[in-house]
This record gives sequence, C-alpha cells and structure tokens, in this order.
Amino acid sequence: MANVQLFDSHMYTEVIRQYEEVAELINLDPNIRERLKHPQRALIVTFPFRRDEYEEVETVVGYRVQHVLSMGPTKGGIRYAPDVNLGEVTALSILMSWKSAIVGLPFGGAKGGVAIDPTSLTRGEKQRVTRRYTAELLPVIGVEKDIPAPDLGTDEQTMAWIMDTYSNFVGSPQPGIVTGKPAALGGSVTRREATGRGAIAVTAQAMDKIHKTYKGSNVVIQGFGNVGRYAALDSYERGAKVIAINDLGGGIINPEGINIPELFKHTAKYHSVAGFEGADVLSENILEVECDVLIPAAVGGVITTSNVNKIRAHVIVEAANSPTTVSADKILKDNNVLVIPDILANAGGVTASYFEWVQNRQNYLWKEKDLYEKLIDTMTSAFEEVWTISQKNKCDLRTAALIKGIKRVAAAKLTRGLFP
Ligand code: NAD
Repeated sequence: MANVQLFDSHMYTEVIRQYEEVAELINLDPNIRERLKHPQRALIVTFPFRRDEYEEVETVVGYRVQHVLSMGPTKGGIRYAPDVNLGEVTALSILMSWKSAIVGLPFGGAKGGVAIDPTSLTRGEKQRVTRRYTAELLPVIGVEKDIPAPDLGTDEQTMAWIMDTYSNFVGSPQPGIVTGKPAALGGSVTRREATGRGAIAVTAQAMDKIHKTYKGSNVVIQGFGNVGRYAALDSYERGAKVIAINDLGGGIINPEGINIPELFKHTAKYHSVAGFEGADVLSENILEVECDVLIPAAVGGVITTSNVNKIRAHVIVEAANSPTTVSADKILKDNNVLVIPDILANAGGVTASYFEWVQNRQNYLWKEKDLYEKLIDTMTSAFEEVWTISQKNKCDLRTAALIKGIKRVAAAKLTRGLFP
C-alpha cells in the first residue's frame, strides 16, 4: 500500500476524510477507493532566483501534483504562498478532480505552487521565479498534458510569463499551455470573472430553491481578489446588498450596501478595500457579521469549530477552496446553514478555463457573450443535478456534489481498466 504520510497535511487529511465518507456511502470499488487517495504524479523542485539586489540569490521549493490522468489532460491552478506544501497541493489537486467531474469537464485534477510570499516579490523577482518554475515543470506540463491556471498569489500576468517561457522552449506560440491569461494572448474576460460570477449564479439558484431571492439579500464577502471582487460585482448587479468586505489590508462595512463599481476604482488606486470612503471601518470579525449570504473568497481553513457557532448567515458560499473544516461543516449542518461547497461554488473558474483551452486549440475565438452563456449554463445545470442528488439521498450539497464527482472519476478509471 502506498505511503499516504508522504502527503501528510491538515488539508490532505480533511479532503481524504470527506472522500472516505462518500466512498463508503456509494460503496465504491475497494481498489479504486485506495487508488484515488494518491496522486498519480507529484513533482517537487527546488530552484534559485535572483532578487533585484543582484548578489542576492534565494532558493525556493515548488510543486506540481497531478491526481488523475485517466480522463484527459490534468488541470489546476498555481499558487504562490509562504505555507504551500506537498500535502496541501495534493489535497487541492484531488479537489480539482472532483470539481472537473462535477461540471462534466474532460480533465483530471492538478495543482501547483511555490512556497514563497508573493507580496515580498517585486515585479521583476516574480517574473524570474515564474520563468524558472515553469522551466522546472517542463517535463510534466503541456497543452495535451497538464494546463496551469491562476490561483492565490498568481494572476493573468503570471500566466503570460508561463506561456512565454513554455513557448520559447517549444519554439512556437503555445497559448493553450495556460488558461486565465490576458485577452491579448487568447485569454478571455469571462475567465477572469468566471469564478466569482459562477459562484453567484449558483447562489441565486440556491436561494430560489429555499424560497428566498438573492436580490435584496445582505451579503458579506471575505477577500477582494480575483474571486471576491467579481462575486461582489455580480451580487451588486443582481441587486443584492454587499454590506461588508475585507482583504489583507483591512475591512469595511455599510449596512445600506457598498457601491462595488466605486470600490473597484478605490482598490485600483490603493490595492486594498481599506480606506474606502463609502463605508465604515469594519471592527468585528467579518465571518461573524449577521447576513443572509456569507462568501469566504480568500483562503482555506477559516471556518473552524472555534468560530462556527458565531456565524450568523443562512447560506455560506465557498468561493475559496476548503474554507470550512470537516468538523465545522458538520456543525453548520446541525445549525441548518445551507453550504454551497467549493467543488461546486467555485467550479466556474475551471469551466471557463476549459472553454479558453478549447478555443486556443481550435484557434477560434467565441464571442464573450457566448462564453458567458455557456459558463452559466454549465454551472446551473451542475447545480440542478447536485440539488436533485441531495434531495434523493437526503444529504447536504457537499455530499451530493462528491457523489457526482467521485462516481464519474471512478467510472472513467474502471472503464479504462488496469495497465498492464
Ligand atoms: P487572490 O490572490 O486574487 O485574492 C485573495 C484575496 O484574499 C485578496 O484580496 C487578499 O487580500 C485576501 N486575503 C488573503 N488572506 C486573507 C485573510 N486571511 N482574510 C481576509 N482576506 C484575505 O486569490 P483568488 O484567485 O481570488 O483566490 C481566492 C480563493 O479562491 C482561493 O482559495 C483560491 O484557491 C480559490 N479559487 C480561485 C479561483 C480563481 O479563478 N482565481 C478558482 C477557484 C478557486
């Protein structure tokens, strides 16, 4: 039996715990059950990069983990954060497998990361880290093999550098090597906004199911990065009231609703929501603000047994990956809080990535309007299926989503058979 301690981390333990519970529930084939706990490939690299101070060279650790290679290329983001480790990246790659399967994409899950604080990097340093990291990943990534995308601490510019580095090695332009790149390189506006907007599309649908309306709801959002800001904008456009938002720079609150387009202008200038004139300073913990819908859209592990009973929201939308611990999730269920799980709520990102990748491979560009419609259609269809599974099995949405995702991945593995 493979040594799972290799991937030991809090997040890996949590992801496997969720998986085991559902595997038991669906009576998953025992061989497949064991296989899916381990990633098929995990590459660890160490590499040096030069700080702007020419003499200063720092060595860092990077990872790329591919969970399942049975259903097509692997797909998943790259994060730059100080605490990135093999266990976390592995856990996130497993979640990516379920996520792609839930929305029906022909991908296995992958994830990558570099253990570095992105805020400590100048633009030049970030570029050098990215180019060298890409060079180290060359044996395992490829348009038909494994396609990275942005995640925490990385963005469109980072993807452009990866695409440029990879294309230089291959000797021809390879836009399909990454998704979430700038529009000028074959990226799409829809991809940029997809995770946040996709999350709100399924939130509005969930509100309908419980006979409430999203329009007029009070919404609280943790994080105003790529995901949080478009979740906020979509909510604002739908007539919901975003009453509190925070980021690493601070928090703001306005019970009348924050003007999100104005907040976009403020953050473009000051790089934080803090100091926004159209709201007061938030003095309480953002997760504890009373609201209809709470959207954690920043980092993992923020809703735990120590704060879960202080949450005063009716619906939680996990726009971030793994914001809720398994134990806290059970308490939320007892407290009758409806949780839209990460593997469904933030699947808009990988869905729009899939469309971007297809366009790049075909060298054919759809209109943004068509892309957006496809995105919303995929997300709402997936939600409907997951909702039906949850009603049929009398289970929560996370269990229902995992049932759908795990069954699909297992079916692909079983049908392909075992080599040799
Ligand atoms: P990002 O780096 O663009 O933004 C992160 C935001 O969270 C920033 O505003 C930052 O200041 C804030 N933040 C960080 N730590 C915080 C804390 N402790 N409290 C409050 N705010 C904090 O990242 P992103 O791309 O928006 O990703 C956010 C989450 O969504 C991550 O969990 C990521 O894995 C997940 N996700 C992202 C995508 C995507 O398309 N970018 C897709 C799926 C899932």
